Amino acid sequence: MKNVIVIGGGITGAGIARDLTLRGMSVTLIEKHSPAASATGRCHGLLHSGARYAVKDAGSARECAEENLVLKDIASECIEDTGGLFLAITEDDAAYGDVLIPSCKISGIPVEEISPSDSPNSAAIRCIRTNDARIDPFLLTLANMYDAYKNGAEIIIGKSVINIDESSVILDDGSRITGEIVVNATGHECERLLRSSGRKTLPVQPNKGTLLVTERRVSDIILNRMRPPTNGDIIVPCHTTSLIGTTSSNSISTVPTRDEFKELIREASMLLPSVKYARVIRAFSGIRPLLGSGDGRSLSRDYQILEDGGSITVAGGKLTTYRLVAEKVSDLAMRLLGASGKCSTKTPLPDVFKKDPPTKIICNCESAVDRLIPMDFLNGVDISKYNRVGFGACQGMRCLHNSPAGISFLQERWKGVKPVISEGQFQQAYLSWASYMSRLGRI
Ligand SMILES: Cc1cc2nc3c(=O)[nH]c(=O)nc-3n(C[C@H](O)[C@H](O)[C@H](O)COP(=O)(O)OP(=O)(O)OC[C@H]3O[C@@H](n4cnc5c(N)ncnc54)[C@H](O)[C@@H]3O)c2cc1C
Repeated sequence: MKNVIVIGGGITGAGIARDLTLRGMSVTLIEKHSPAASATGRCHGLLHSGARYAVKDAGSARECAEENLVLKDIASECIEDTGGLFLAITEDDAAYGDVLIPSCKISGIPVEEISPSDSPNSAAIRCIRTNDARIDPFLLTLANMYDAYKNGAEIIIGKSVINIDESSVILDDGSRITGEIVVNATGHECERLLRSSGRKTLPVQPNKGTLLVTERRVSDIILNRMRPPTNGDIIVPCHTTSLIGTTSSNSISTVPTRDEFKELIREASMLLPSVKYARVIRAFSGIRPLLGSGDGRSLSRDYQILEDGGSITVAGGKLTTYRLVAEKVSDLAMRLLGASGKCSTKTPLPDVFKKDPPTKIICNCESAVDRLIPMDFLNGVDISKYNRVGFGACQGMRCLHNSPAGISFLQERWKGVKPVISEGQFQQAYLSWASYMSRLGRI
């Protein structure tokens, strides 16, 4: 019997598994799809400075400020330290700057006012620099899981927990795994799992956010609009592309819509006019596990931890603060187990890349090679997304034959391509589709 069973292989579950194994606990982690398959792999990957939350949510802002520095120390392989700018486009935005700067200072967030002429938008009237950065959520999750695995964790991928029953869980194949404590880190699905298990629940409000991917980078630095968080006010460089985000609606749909696409382009073009001319290659949507009820924009990005007779549930928070959340959950688990052992996750994460990767290119537009070191728990998992196969300009048209995902990759891509194309682009999209199918031997 293990000490702890962790359900969910997003960043929260992976971070908890790492923390507990480093404290000497025996852990089993269960993920129903693949590492970072849900909110974690569908976010901007913005390593927040905290400035976005400084005015309304000082507690979250301070945590982001602290964790931003910790992650830059321990996860440098996953981070591109781009820096960030907050740009005022209207007089109202500029007035918000008068509240933003002192709020950042109170929360210990380093900000500096610079000339708007040093920003990439000639229409900007005020500009504040922050230490935002880009963090790769897939690699960060894998690095945490891999460290847990190296320290003895058992990692089960591809099985779903259907019931939490005292200190054990029942899987969809009917088997039961027993542990002393169960940790439910299933993101927006945590409430459903608790309900179906007849347990006390947390007030989780699933909230959809849609992002757009541009064919090339439109900015090398992270851009934020200088105003309270609203739709279409962030642009994040992501490898060879940029991500434009995001929207907020109370929904569990992961299908992006044409209206979301139009709104994001309209708003982001104010932040950076060249967005109007950028080619958007895809949209995708993720579900935030927000806490409370009501309009998603008004809800805090804080997290909650619930303990209920040998099981712990955690929901909310951000990618940026995952390590801290994992520390708090692990502290509670250790107390319940009556065990001692301090958190040691402020130590560098292991490399997930091979020292001498093969030179054979498996995705031309990202110049991707198979860089991942072998991890046994990934056997049978399609690892192409961790190598960014199909994530660049051609969206897999030239490299799909290297991906075991085949048709399911095509269907997932098409869901995101449909809302962002119009008129002549349809012809091109159908040509791509025909090309995919012939390469796969289907036509
Ligand atoms: C659109 C969007 C943009 C965002 N942008 C940012 C950002 O830029 N910066 C930032 O810091 N944060 C951002 N966030 C927030 C961040 O993504 C989340 O807070 C974080 O990823 C939550 O991680 P998690 O592990 O708790 O949940 P998830 O990533 O949702 O992981 C839960 C996992 O549990 C698994 N699971 C569910 N049910 C079961 C079951 N029954 N059995 C087994 N496994 C199960 C799922 O498959 C999933 O992999 C964003 C979120 C969204 C939606």
